[in-house]
Amino acid sequence: MAKIDKRIRLEPWQDPHSVPYVEVKDLSKSYEGVVAVNSQSLEIYKGELFSLLGPSGCGKSTLLRMLAGFEEPSEGHIYIDGVDITHMPPYERPVNMMFQAYALFPHMTVEQNVAFGLKQEGVPKDEIRDRVSSMLHMVRLNQYASRKPHQLSGGQRQRVALARCLVKKPKLVLLDEPLGALDRQLRIQTQFELVNIQEELGVTFIMVTHDQEEAMTMSTRIGVMEEGRLRQIGTPTEIYEYPNSRYVADFVGDMNMFEGIVTEIEADHVCIHSEEVGCDIDVSHVSDVPPGATVAVAIRPEKIMLSTEKKREKRNTAKGVVNEIAYLGDMSIYHVLLETGKAVRVALSNQVRLSERPVNWDDEVYLSWHSDSGIILTG
Ligand code: ADP
Ligand code: MG
Repeated sequence: MAKIDKRIRLEPWQDPHSVPYVEVKDLSKSYEGVVAVNSQSLEIYKGELFSLLGPSGCGKSTLLRMLAGFEEPSEGHIYIDGVDITHMPPYERPVNMMFQAYALFPHMTVEQNVAFGLKQEGVPKDEIRDRVSSMLHMVRLNQYASRKPHQLSGGQRQRVALARCLVKKPKLVLLDEPLGALDRQLRIQTQFELVNIQEELGVTFIMVTHDQEEAMTMSTRIGVMEEGRLRQIGTPTEIYEYPNSRYVADFVGDMNMFEGIVTEIEADHVCIHSEEVGCDIDVSHVSDVPPGATVAVAIRPEKIMLSTEKKREKRNTAKGVVNEIAYLGDMSIYHVLLETGKAVRVALSNQVRLSERPVNWDDEVYLSWHSDSGIILTG
C-alpha cells in the first residue's frame, strides 16, 4: 500500500522552489540619526507563525510597524505576495495589526466591537452578523456577545481584540506583544489558543515578543534581533540547539560558555583547550575555525552530567564543588564552582535522579559531557 512519508516533506524555507509570502529587502529605519532597523532582509512563508524576538529597544516594533504601513522605511522594500507594498497606505495592504486589548471600545458590546471594522467597510448587515458570530465561536466568546469589555477577564478581552482583527479576513496578521498584559497562567493558555486559531484559519502571523519561552513554544521560525539586526533566523530547535553566536546562545535559554583556544582540527572533531575549565574540550560538530582561534564552547546545563565519581577520561570533564542547588520542581539547577574559579550550571531532572545518591551542597563533583553537546561560537 502506498504510504505518505512525511519525513521527506520539506518545510517551505528549506524548499528552493517555494516562494516567500512576505519579503523584506534591505529594510532600514532611522529616527534622526538613530538606526532602529539596519538594512535587514527576511523571507516569511504562507501559514507561518514567525516571531521577532529580542530585548527591549532592538527594533522589533519598528520592523512590524513598517510591515503594517504605520512607519515609512528610510530605505529598502517590502513585498507581499510579490507586490511591492513599501509605500502603500496601511488600509490598502492585505494586513491587519492586532492591537492590545485596551484598544477596545468600552461603550460597545463584544459583538459591536468585532463588527465595527466590517460596518466601516460597508459589508452587508447579514454578512456582518454571520461573520461576527462564527468568529466569536472560534475564539469561544459566543456566550459573551452582549457583554461590555469591562465585564470580561483580561484573557477574554484579548480574544475580542483577536476576533476584531481576524473577522476582516486579513492574509497577514501582525501582533505586537499580544500577550504582554496577561499573567503567566493565562498567557500560556492563550498561547495555545492563538496557535490553534492561526492553524485553523491558515493565516500567516508575524508576532513580536521579548519572551523567549513564548517564541519557542508558538513559532514555526524565530528571528532573533539585536540592535536593529536579525542575528539568526531559524526554527525553535535550530535556535536552541545551534545558536550561531554568543549573543543568541545567551539570549535563548540558559547556556554555559567556556572560552578556549582551538588546538586540533580533525575530520570528526575539533579540540579546544580551555584554561577556564581546566581541560581539553572535544566538539564533534565540525566548524569552520582555524587552529589558534579564540572561541567559546557553549553547552546547555541539561547536557552536562554530574557525578561524585572521578572520570577516567581527560577530555570533556572538570572537577568542582557544588555551591548552590536551586530546586525548580521537575528539575534542579546545580551551581558548581570549578577548581579554576569558573562557575558552571548543571540541570538535572529530579525524577531520573531519585534512585541515585543525591548530590549535596559542598560535595566534590565531576562534570562531564559528550562531544556532540558543545557548540563552537566565534561571533
Ligand atoms: P522594540 O520594539 O524592540 O522594543 P522599537 O522598534 O520600539 O524596539 O525601537 C527601536 C529603537 O528605535 C529604540 O532605540 C527606540 O527608542 C527608537 N524609536 C522607536 N520609535 C521611535 C520614534 N517614533 N522616534 C524616535 N525613536 C524611536
Ligand atoms: Mg516594541
